[in-house]
Amino acid sequence: MTAVRALYDVRCVRCSCRAVAHMAPSGRTGTYREVLVKLGAVRISCPHCGYARDVPQREEDAYELWYATSFQGERLWATNRADLDRLIAWVAARQRPRAVFPEGVTIETLPKWLKNGKNRAAILKCLRRLRET
Ligand SMILES: [Zn+2]
Repeated sequence: MTAVRALYDVRCVRCSCRAVAHMAPSGRTGTYREVLVKLGAVRISCPHCGYARDVPQREEDAYELWYATSFQGERLWATNRADLDRLIAWVAARQRPRAVFPEGVTIETLPKWLKNGKNRAAILKCLRRLRET
């Protein structure tokens, strides 16, 4: 099976450091306009404490993203460092390019509060703080 594999940065359940979740497609979600492939964690491993575990399917969503915070009560997150950098670049750009997001992610799927120019500076601050972690 040539499944798309993605790596998410998650919090290690044992040592709370940054661990890696190997993600694999686990079904489809989205709307009739746009079908999104849902990813579930299949394996989580931590380079800091050596924790490693194959994740049973029923627990595929039981992980905590490393790059996650809240902005005015909304959840602001990125799946990994590259995703965070893309989000920062997109929010920072005045002319917001579509091209910075990988295929399958469209600007329409981003929430309104994130696209709102008024929140730009504050969101950027939040994202850059996340980047420091
Ligand atoms: Zn660990």
